[in-house]
Amino acid sequence: MRDLLVIGGGVTGAGVLRDAALRGLSALLLEPGKPGGATTASSTHLIHGGIRYLLYDRLTTHATAWDAGNIVKTAAPLLKRLPIVWPVYRGASHPLSTVETLVTCYEPFQRMKEGLPHLRLSAAAVTELLPAIKTEGLVGGVSFDEWWVDAEGLAEANLKAAEALGAEVRLGWRAVGLVQEGGRVVGVQAVGPEGRREELRAKVVVNAAGPWVDEVVRHAGLNIPLRLRKGTHLVYDKPLVPVGLLLEAVDRGRYVFVVPFAGGTLVGPTDLDSPGGPDDVRTTPEEIEYLRASVRRYFKDFPLEYSRTIVGARPILGQSGSEKLLSREYEIFDHGRQGAEGLVTAGGGKMSDFRLMAKDTVDLACEKLGKPADCRTHSVTLAGAPAAPRPEFPRPSRSLKLFLRRHPRLRELHALSYLGAALVRRLAAGGEPPSDAAAFRKHYGL
Ligand SMILES: Cc1cc2nc3c(=O)[nH]c(=O)nc-3n(C[C@H](O)[C@H](O)[C@H](O)COP(=O)(O)OP(=O)(O)OC[C@H]3O[C@@H](n4cnc5c(N)ncnc54)[C@H](O)[C@@H]3O)c2cc1C
Repeated sequence: MRDLLVIGGGVTGAGVLRDAALRGLSALLLEPGKPGGATTASSTHLIHGGIRYLLYDRLTTHATAWDAGNIVKTAAPLLKRLPIVWPVYRGASHPLSTVETLVTCYEPFQRMKEGLPHLRLSAAAVTELLPAIKTEGLVGGVSFDEWWVDAEGLAEANLKAAEALGAEVRLGWRAVGLVQEGGRVVGVQAVGPEGRREELRAKVVVNAAGPWVDEVVRHAGLNIPLRLRKGTHLVYDKPLVPVGLLLEAVDRGRYVFVVPFAGGTLVGPTDLDSPGGPDDVRTTPEEIEYLRASVRRYFKDFPLEYSRTIVGARPILGQSGSEKLLSREYEIFDHGRQGAEGLVTAGGGKMSDFRLMAKDTVDLACEKLGKPADCRTHSVTLAGAPAAPRPEFPRPSRSLKLFLRRHPRLRELHALSYLGAALVRRLAAGGEPPSDAAAFRKHYGL
């Protein structure tokens, strides 16, 4: 019998398959659609630390930035550095001093993923870089950088690398039931092309179905509460901006990205409750209007005609508290504790820490299989070459993370105290002189 069967070929499942194959496990993955074609494809396509989590969930920024550094080292051909300008206007929800404090606090996490130090930009620099931007009330801006990633390509490359190591990938196959014997999950019932049905057995079944993880465990009478949040982007099949942008949205409660990529531009995402299941997620006319109006606050002639929309449901783990404080951390569920030994779910998380999520999943699978083997996905590139070494960075404390998971208000205070201390330090030191557009271009190698 094979060691592992993975349900779902998004970035998480693909990462699990490659990790397992690198450790010498025999593994099979089922994916009904295109690799990475679901949530992974509907993302903003950023490998990032999540600067905004610094406002309420610093350990998620830490974990994602830490693992993003491993992705930068091992998947470099799929990534491109994306400089982002955050313009600030008089009367904005966050004044320039707060915005600069935030990017300053982000710096230690930037180093983990080969990000560059931020720049403070004069209003003249912002208008020179973005000649069509509204100038009235413009105070200046800051810059920071993230990594744009070919998200579907990342899932595909992980699957290809796993196949090269002997793993099997079945596209067009869906798990429609779990095979259970004596309190153990020993495989899945699967349906493939033309309705072919097969029972596929494995010693450990990994549920990596993203926003569908709850649907999968229901076959074992279990439940994984999720708080799905819908996100839509507008996709333009033409380049519209020379750099990335972070803009305060029209409702002033949120921010939207404008992300240039080869041959196109993404605008989004929205962030809305998604009370139905992941199959009910649809873009509404209100979301389209919201995104258009948010960009047109700054660029009055930004095209209204877009090429298409992409929409997905963030697979956020169930938790109490306001939607603004939702943690994006992941959890690996060992369903053996609930009477379904052999079933493991990788739930929650971000694309930016998919590798770490896959590592923790396969660590648990190895323990169950009694086949100890070290993870190698950080030290071998997707092309199979040794990865360049990376400096040691501290990992987030697991015990603190578990404690703060249960106390969202304390998690927010933990983040805010760090920001508050940085603000005081920054004010005491005095502001940096702003940079001009030439300095910006030199800094980011444009
Ligand atoms: C709007 C939006 C923006 C985002 N932006 C970012 C970002 O910029 N950076 C970032 O790091 N993260 C981002 N995220 C989060 C990130 O996209 C997800 O965390 C990540 O893509 C989840 O990957 P996954 O493989 O777990 O899920 P998915 O990509 O959804 O993959 C799950 C797969 O499981 C398959 N599946 C479902 N049921 C079954 C079954 N029964 N049998 C077999 N297969 C099944 C599905 O077909 C699917 O392909 C964003 C999310 C959204 C929605």
